[in-house]
Amino acid sequence: MRNPIQWGLWLLTITAIAVFGYNVYLRETTPPQRSYNEFLNDLTQDNINTVHLHGQNLTGTDSAGRPFGTFVPDVAALTPLLVDHKVTITGEPVLPSESSEIFKILLPFVLILGGWLIFSKRSLSSAFSGGGKGSRFTPIKGDRVTFADVAGINEAKEELQEIVEFLKNPEKYSRLGGRIPKGVLLQGSPGTGKTLLAKAIAGEASVSFFSIGGSDFVEMFAGVGASRVRELFAEAKKSTPCLIFIDEIDAIGGRRSGGQSTGSNDEREQTLNALLVEMDGFASHETVIMIAATNRPDILDPALLRPGRFDRRITIPLPDVKGRLKILEVYARKIVTAPDLDLDTIARSIPGFSGAEIANLVNEAALNAARYDQEMVRAEDFELAKDKIIMGLERRSIVVSEQDRRVTAYHEAGHAIVGLMLDETDPLHKITIIPRGRAMGLTQQVSIDDRITYSREYLLNRISILMGGRAAESVVFGRLTTGASNDIEHATEIATRLVCEWGMSPTIGPIAYRRSGEGFLGDASQGKPHSEMIAQSIDTEIKQLIGGCYDQAIDLLKKHNRFLHEFAEALLLYETMDAEQVDIVYRHYLKERELERLLTENGGTHDQANNHQKTEVHP
Ligand code: ADP
Ligand code: ZN
Repeated sequence: MRNPIQWGLWLLTITAIAVFGYNVYLRETTPPQRSYNEFLNDLTQDNINTVHLHGQNLTGTDSAGRPFGTFVPDVAALTPLLVDHKVTITGEPVLPSESSEIFKILLPFVLILGGWLIFSKRSLSSAFSGGGKGSRFTPIKGDRVTFADVAGINEAKEELQEIVEFLKNPEKYSRLGGRIPKGVLLQGSPGTGKTLLAKAIAGEASVSFFSIGGSDFVEMFAGVGASRVRELFAEAKKSTPCLIFIDEIDAIGGRRSGGQSTGSNDEREQTLNALLVEMDGFASHETVIMIAATNRPDILDPALLRPGRFDRRITIPLPDVKGRLKILEVYARKIVTAPDLDLDTIARSIPGFSGAEIANLVNEAALNAARYDQEMVRAEDFELAKDKIIMGLERRSIVVSEQDRRVTAYHEAGHAIVGLMLDETDPLHKITIIPRGRAMGLTQQVSIDDRITYSREYLLNRISILMGGRAAESVVFGRLTTGASNDIEHATEIATRLVCEWGMSPTIGPIAYRRSGEGFLGDASQGKPHSEMIAQSIDTEIKQLIGGCYDQAIDLLKKHNRFLHEFAEALLLYETMDAEQVDIVYRHYLKERELERLLTENGGTHDQANNHQKTEVHP
């Protein structure tokens, strides 16, 4: 169906039918034509009853009541004759907009063409972009990607090295009758380099790379996805050994859900079946390896994961601190960086960034530097780029009332102070009251190292820090705002997992209970189902955990009330503070407190009781 010639034939057929239909319509509606002479004859014999003039076109009825039409060469000359013979005359002028006949003839063509274009927009573009010898699936050549271009995910690379060997040297492995794997499933978040890895495998083994993506499968016409899959495999088999990459395989390979069957489900199933048939259909001498990528392995149809299909699964994680540094190095090599640029610090400050986001970060930083005509890219440019990516663009222009600014400053100071006063937690990185994206302000912490496991203390402290914002508002203003909704959501998430997933609650114990909601990589439905009673005690436990943390935050902020005010004032003044500035404010506060303690101790020698009390209040 996608072949342009076939489309042309379709178009022609439809047009022909339309033209024929239009002609029939015209014949039905236009009265039988007479020559002008015949008409004049009838007129002079008083055989004409009425005429209707439309420009030079005349229609009318004769004395027998039969309709007729004719063309009038000279209307001015005819009119007196018509009057003489007492014919009823009606008529209308020809409007310029009605250069009508042409329009009427063209109209169906225009409609057909328009309809056709709308219907086949996707197919059309793909039909013509494929072009050439009629195939869309030509292997990618040119820029060869190798493992050197993929940084920071060494484990995955090592596992895939084997696939490279298979592709390079299939005989070596099949010699003893072993079956070469057919399919590898790469699972991981978007932007972690799955596509890049697949390309690198093809590059390392010097084989052709064919790719098809989830969105290719979603077509308007039934059967297109399936035929596309067959076409792809036919093409790939012509150039073995080769590698076929299927991106977003969950688009077609999602589990066949009984409930929500939509129209596109049939289409999806057909495509999936075609894929399974093709996969099973390789002969053993055909060295075709398939790599599929997904970030939702949990929803894949089990049929896809059976032995002989995508039976190898490799998880591509988000890069850790070392991985991020490696990826940064790859991309920093491509730009001009300042000699004192410390990539290590940058790598630490971007936990959770994917490879794609790091590539984007470096690019944004380079653009920032270029914007200000700098000679090279400096740390500040990275900082700006990072903020832009993490928090969305600064919204300096937004009008924030003085009251809102104050509340935000105390809110953020609350987070920061609770964080400073607790031991086991991440150091503060940056704190700002400049609105960004949807947030009014932000307090950022960096992890010293990517933590893989978290202690109970760390998690509880995190909840306390999250509560710090709301607690500060309550301590200082005595009223609550909606600004803490995000914090509360986050804290609830941590507390819930702490109880249901990590088994850290003494009352519930180390049992994984099913939670509601859906986590990434779909661990939602795992865990033990439970009774209403357990559900209640889970809820109570979560409530107590968060309540305890909130109380702790309140206590800390009341105890360090002066610090809270100083911190908030500093924030209102500077708007954004980094770790160093926070440290200065903190040390200033500590010094003040020390001074005060000394003063009260000295002054207190006169009054023992008073001194005693004071030292108890300030431990
Ligand atoms: P995915 O297929 O997992 O969504 P991609 O492979 O399309 O991710 O990654 C997008 C881009 O991000 C790549 O083209 C590359 O520029 C960059 N990238 C991602 N991961 C890495 C990595 N580990 N090393 C180098 N570049 C990476
Ligand atoms: Zn907050």
